[in-house]
Amino acid sequence: MKTLIKNGTIVTATDEFQADILVDGEKISAIGLNLSENVDRVIDAAGKYVMPGGVDSHCHFEALNTDGVTYNGDFNTSYVCLLGGTTTIVDMAFNEHDEDGNFLNLVDSCNYRLNTRIKGKLAPDIALHACCTNYTEETKSELPKLVEMGIPSLKLFLCFKGTEMYADDMALLNCLEAAGKCGMFVLVHAENSDVLDKYRNEAAAAGHFEPKYQYYTRPEFGEAECVSRAIRFADQARCPINICHVSCIEAGEEIRKAKEEGKAVIGEACTAWLTLDWHLMDNPDWRVASHFVCSPPLRDQEDRDYLWNALNKGTISLIGSDNSMTNQEQKDTGWDEENKHCDFRKIPNGCPGAGDRMHVIWTYGVEAGRINRKKYVEACCTTPAKLNGLYPRKGAIAVGSDADIAILDPEYRGTFSVETNPSGVEYSIFEGMEQKGRFETVLLRGKVVVENAKYVGTPGEGQFIPGKPYGLAYDLLEK
Ligand SMILES: [Zn+2]
Repeated sequence: MKTLIKNGTIVTATDEFQADILVDGEKISAIGLNLSENVDRVIDAAGKYVMPGGVDSHCHFEALNTDGVTYNGDFNTSYVCLLGGTTTIVDMAFNEHDEDGNFLNLVDSCNYRLNTRIKGKLAPDIALHACCTNYTEETKSELPKLVEMGIPSLKLFLCFKGTEMYADDMALLNCLEAAGKCGMFVLVHAENSDVLDKYRNEAAAAGHFEPKYQYYTRPEFGEAECVSRAIRFADQARCPINICHVSCIEAGEEIRKAKEEGKAVIGEACTAWLTLDWHLMDNPDWRVASHFVCSPPLRDQEDRDYLWNALNKGTISLIGSDNSMTNQEQKDTGWDEENKHCDFRKIPNGCPGAGDRMHVIWTYGVEAGRINRKKYVEACCTTPAKLNGLYPRKGAIAVGSDADIAILDPEYRGTFSVETNPSGVEYSIFEGMEQKGRFETVLLRGKVVVENAKYVGTPGEGQFIPGKPYGLAYDLLEK
């Protein structure tokens, strides 16, 4: 099967130019002017931007909810990524439970995800972060095995103390040391657990349970302190570290200063924190407000302005979605039936957004003049691919790369809505916001999977793409 994409404007992380792309089988086989060849299909991309398919380095599909029973974001919904121009997700492979409720180790959990959870369902391609939700003595000895499997990254939660997800300072340091020895990088959710527990307890004691207390009880300094500590530990252990979903100026400044000192740190911003305001949690209908409950919390306009600038300055390197398809029924577990009020502490944290990421960032980043098109491709496609050891197979328009190609119509005008932009659940956190530009055609390894902005692929055709160790973050380590 050969496909020729003609007359489009190709945008990469470094260039923008007019050229045709020849796709042969699953790969890009030629890029040039006026390519003509006997092909099975011609796609006319005149007036469109032709970009590498997006790589979303921060996704939670089929993750256990805080109720400890239900899972969010069945892989059946992963087609929404393709509609939104994302062709590869890097999913968080949590420690699974066996039938008796005992934790599986990370190697077995990753295998379970790849051999069972995604089967017959996965629409885009997938890579994995091993996501430690049950740190044990065994964890650090598993890391070389994970690298061999093509999983060169480990995620740790430095908040949620009192749950099995929580990684304390010793776990963090042990994991960083072991990861640095085998070419893995470590990702962290950085919020000081004691700081937020203090404010959460105080709010509850004073009778404050509304969703907006998610914002009041997770102060910026608690995030910044944890970011600073994680960076220091990583530097000591000589392991690169990725700070997930940076939400505020104070945390960003810790990253900026550390980078100036030559420390190997990568900052990630996520769609919701770049575009949404914490006052959305002040909706009089607590069930609507609950859609926006995530951690760290949404913050202020000045924080969002800072994050966009930080992308341009290189303090923040990539944009993920932190997709967590928590449906309404799961969000409703925030209701305290005994006391007849919602309790922000019980609302499952997390928002859907894997399908919206590229469209929202195009509209509110590129169209709003905050970042240019090359920065968009860099932050949404190329840097995440490099970080996860997937480049140049993914994240590039280059001869020999996988033909993951997203073609955007910049003239499209619409409104974000769960009807037109499915999120995988009943609601969209971007509902009612203006949309500029839309992916009309998307190819996954040479096959058209989105046509006229409709999904035309086959669930189950997404593949696991092993990542190589010693990725982008290791370039930052001083030799
Ligand atoms: Zn996350």
